[in-house]
Amino acid sequence: MTTPPEQTVTVIPGDGIGPEVVGAAQRVIEATGVPIAWDVQDAGEQVFLRGVPSGVPPETIESIRRNRVVLKGPLGTPVGYGEKSANVTLRKLFETYGNLRPVRELPGVRTPYTGRGIDLVIVRENVEDLYAGIEHQQTPGVAQCLKLISRAGCEKISRLAFEVARAEGRGSVACFTKSNIMKLTEGLLKRTFEEVARDYPDIDAWHVIVDNGAHQLVKKPEQYEVIVTTNMNGDILSDLTSAQVGGLGFAPSANLGREVAIFEAVHGSAPKYAGRDVINPTAVIMSAVMMLRHLGQFQAASDIEHAIMVTLEDGLFLTRDVVGDRDAASTTDYTDAIIANLGRRSRVWEVRDHRPVVLPRSALAPDHVKVARRRVVGVDVFIESGSAPDALGPDIEDEVADLPVYLKMISSRGTKVYPSMGAMTDYVDHWRCRFMLRDPAGELADAVIVALLERLSSRQRWMHVEKLQEFDGEPGFTKAQGED
Ligand code: NAP
Repeated sequence: MTTPPEQTVTVIPGDGIGPEVVGAAQRVIEATGVPIAWDVQDAGEQVFLRGVPSGVPPETIESIRRNRVVLKGPLGTPVGYGEKSANVTLRKLFETYGNLRPVRELPGVRTPYTGRGIDLVIVRENVEDLYAGIEHQQTPGVAQCLKLISRAGCEKISRLAFEVARAEGRGSVACFTKSNIMKLTEGLLKRTFEEVARDYPDIDAWHVIVDNGAHQLVKKPEQYEVIVTTNMNGDILSDLTSAQVGGLGFAPSANLGREVAIFEAVHGSAPKYAGRDVINPTAVIMSAVMMLRHLGQFQAASDIEHAIMVTLEDGLFLTRDVVGDRDAASTTDYTDAIIANLGRRSRVWEVRDHRPVVLPRSALAPDHVKVARRRVVGVDVFIESGSAPDALGPDIEDEVADLPVYLKMISSRGTKVYPSMGAMTDYVDHWRCRFMLRDPAGELADAVIVALLERLSSRQRWMHVEKLQEFDGEPGFTKAQGED
């Protein structure tokens, strides 16, 4: 028999409870005999304190570039350091665009959902949406966060969801979005998902508005097998589903990209439990199981999965989050029990038939979405003012009277307030002024926008400008509430 080649994995023990739970996962993997060499690296709190602003040092980045597979503990951000989370930085640096968060009812872990057979995977988009973290304080009173969603990102995450369904023998994928309100951003995922679904006729595909999706998940979670959704929706919903099967101590995840895969628990560093040997390491051990499958080590992955289930079924060594403080086993005792149970088979748990997840190997070209025609038809200029709209509107109309654009309307946080349509909204110091071409068949030149800004800036303070474009005759912008 030939010995399989050793695989090197970057391991980041992380902060708080991280070293305890990651150490437990390493011990369990080592006990299976799978030949893995650990390349130990750091990131998170200590790195911020050393003055590295991203919380991720260059040696860690180099190690991940080399090894392409990471087992990671949770990372914290010390108060007063690092504007950005080191976790999000790691996910984004390596374009791990798909975050897989499986949840399945576990033997021996009683919850209000016990007996319902929850068994689903949330496939969360991992690098776009509001979590791109592009924020601006636009006026003293108003801040904005840009929600960026790309067609390429939607294609990748939709395809990943269908590929996960195929790899795990699941028959359906539901897409959760808020496309009824955010038609261009959340709607892009819905439309792309529906297109990609045509390539997977063997899998049922349907769309659910995300607020109803949350309601359905609480009412009847067993109806879902795979859920694909945008970054923030997925973050929130996957914590909800993890609670349905026993809590964050049981919630594993994989961050998958074309080049790099990062495996970690959903939970954070839970600092109050750090160093006390009381925390549940199952989430990281199950993340390591996902990692073993990614590495093609299907047998070892099944063995560990069975050993965890046997340990939970036996109920002899369970951590405090399952049985409370009085009867709790330590992290070490629980991990020892899993190791001792390697080789035993659960009576009730069936390990799913897993095949490798097939991801597209090449990136889509940055300009892969083509349009035949585009036209700039207007411009939104966001201004700061303490005036009321019925004073502001006529002033601005006077200022632009001789330009090729006219003031179509002013809105306050998305609601049209000038010309008045009788809205009774509160006002803040932030107004969107929508200027449209007087010639409806014309093209708005940059020079006119510059002239408009010059004109406005003599009397107003503007902070943001957005061109209004048509793509193949379709408006690439939404209307304000009440705008005709
Ligand atoms: P957290 O660390 O996930 O802890 C929240 C609560 O979840 C804990 O107090 C505990 O609940 C329970 N819990 C978490 N892990 C558990 C485990 N392994 N076993 C049993 N119970 C567990 O969330 P947080 O307190 O909001 O965040 C702490 C730090 O972690 C923050 O700095 C945050 O930014 C960071 N964080 C990192 C990641 C990551 O690296 N991926 C993710 C999330 C948060 P009880 O109190 O009820 O016992």
